[in-house]
Amino acid sequence: MKSAVVTGGGSGIGRAVAERLRKDGYRVAVLDLKPSSSEYEYTADVTDRAQIDAALAEIRAQWGPITILVNGAGLELHKRFTNTDFDTWQRLIDINLTSVYHCAQAVLPDMLDAGWGRIVNISSSSTHSGQPFMSAYVAAKSAVNGLTKSLALEYGPHGITVNAVPPGFVDTPMLRRAEEKGHLGGTIEEHIMRTPVRRVGRPEDIAAACSFLISEEAGYITGQILPVSGGRNT
Ligand code: NAD
Repeated sequence: MKSAVVTGGGSGIGRAVAERLRKDGYRVAVLDLKPSSSEYEYTADVTDRAQIDAALAEIRAQWGPITILVNGAGLELHKRFTNTDFDTWQRLIDINLTSVYHCAQAVLPDMLDAGWGRIVNISSSSTHSGQPFMSAYVAAKSAVNGLTKSLALEYGPHGITVNAVPPGFVDTPMLRRAEEKGHLGGTIEEHIMRTPVRRVGRPEDIAAACSFLISEEAGYITGQILPVSGGRNT
């Protein structure tokens, strides 16, 4: 049985991905900031390599090598660029981009030894056209798409695929917080009317795409950015 790690799996999209992969028959461990009493949820800040390595060591001790990684942890910020101080900028880059660097680098040796691996990075549909007041977030998520393509080229010869899924509007605590703060530029209902499929996304929509990209059937797909956005680009 293959072992998977899902970061940000304590909420929203990450939680749905973890549940879906368990249904698919994988052993799934979650890394998240939020403390949890659940057996396979590890409290770890994915910007901190020591915390990641400690959690992965515990997972490997129980399950052996980790050959599936979904990088779902993320944080958005709504702030005018000229008011974004450097520490804030760096924090957004660390959470949304550097976390992917750390986690991918930490699990790739297992995948290389196995000659098989799957990495799926959750980026954002805001990378298609940009988003006002979200420069740090969009910069980090755009870099995740670039990192995805480079890793795909580098590790494809070793049986490892690397793809990104940029979600559109997905009904999660992150989206509801943005709505409450008036950061969406309209209500969710108004956004639905601008979405070709006329509904808000569900975390399970993203989980289904991850499930496919991780499957054996998707072994000829790598370096791709697969938007799951109901047809919207932002
Ligand atoms: P969410 O806030 O519900 O979940 C994010 C999870 O990441 C939380 O459990 C949080 O604790 C965890 N996390 C944040 N920082 C962390 C850190 N430093 N270390 C460990 N865990 C950390 O948000 P969501 O909507 O489920 O978002 C999941 C991913 O999808 C994020 O990367 C987000 O940027 C992306 N995304 C979401 C939407 C949307 O509409 N919901 C749209 C585009 C992209």
